[in-house]
Amino acid sequence: MRAVVYRGANDLRLETVPVPRIGPHELLVKVAACGVCPTDIKKIQHGTAAPPRIFGHETAGVIVRTGSRVRKFKAGERVALHHHVPCQECHACRHHAFAQCEQYKRTGITAGFEPAGGGYAEFVRVMPFALPGVVRIPTRNSFLEGAMLEPVNTVLKAVKRLALLRGDTVLVAGQGPIGLMFTRLLALRGMNVLATDRMPSRLKLAREFGATETIQVRSPARQSKAASAQSAARKAAGVRGLDAAVVAVPSDEVVRDALGLVRGGGQVLIFAHTRRGAETAVDLAGICVDEKDLIGSYSSDFLLQAEVASLVFSRRLDVRRLVTHEFPLDQTAAAIALAAKPSTDSLKVMVSQG
Ligand SMILES: [Zn+2]
Ligand SMILES: [Zn+2]
Repeated sequence: MRAVVYRGANDLRLETVPVPRIGPHELLVKVAACGVCPTDIKKIQHGTAAPPRIFGHETAGVIVRTGSRVRKFKAGERVALHHHVPCQECHACRHHAFAQCEQYKRTGITAGFEPAGGGYAEFVRVMPFALPGVVRIPTRNSFLEGAMLEPVNTVLKAVKRLALLRGDTVLVAGQGPIGLMFTRLLALRGMNVLATDRMPSRLKLAREFGATETIQVRSPARQSKAASAQSAARKAAGVRGLDAAVVAVPSDEVVRDALGLVRGGGQVLIFAHTRRGAETAVDLAGICVDEKDLIGSYSSDFLLQAEVASLVFSRRLDVRRLVTHEFPLDQTAAAIALAAKPSTDSLKVMVSQG
């Protein structure tokens, strides 16, 4: 089969590799769509994962073969996959911290080499422990919609970490695909969403997704970003301040701004700060005296799968509007380049083999 193999930093090659062989408790899935995810982009561009690997973990496709002991699935079913599935038994899982579970950290889907998702290949093997993460796609929905379940799950999980009441005011900084999902999910829950971004096209979509107010921030002039976001936030939240802020951009400056903008007892959730060792100064009295929470959220929550599927497949969160570009498998490198440096009209980028 054809696969896009990561051979080192910024080195992706279209190669011919064996179709994965499956065991009695496994599935073979023919990939139809795979989303390009920022976490993979970072690994590919910075070479932080040891090669060779086949990346791509937001995968949907058709089951073409089932292991002899598999009863729950059959060939021909259209499915969305989750590459991380928790054991639901360990100490971390009992604390509902699935992303810290040792089984969860293993990757249960592969197209060969060290398992890394495999969605940038024609076929993937679903390992036994990843089977509970397989979700059927209804006939009316597309593979692209199926491929969005995993990223939507990560956003819903984060939203549930916020202690909000209906009518609260929440800043969502950054209206990329992830920020837009936050905007939509928060609006569906009755929040006043203040959405910021650099691109007017993204702010337009944010309004259509339910943002109460949008503000364009200038970059790289950070001061004006801080000042304009602050004045807009004041306007939106009055003297009380924001109830919460979601920082969906990897900017320390925005985190500090957000901590200043939330009210006492409010929350700042960081979602895009995945680079280790990047330290920043924070006024800790804001956390201690003002009781502001600085929290993070990473990866998906297995228990939310059904709720996520319902949101996406009912189109209350219409992810079709987020998918702006589809590339064929042999142009995966171009897909990743576009997702890494978005254009004014690009949001979610897919590698599509349908
Ligand atoms: Zn992802
Ligand atoms: Zn566990």
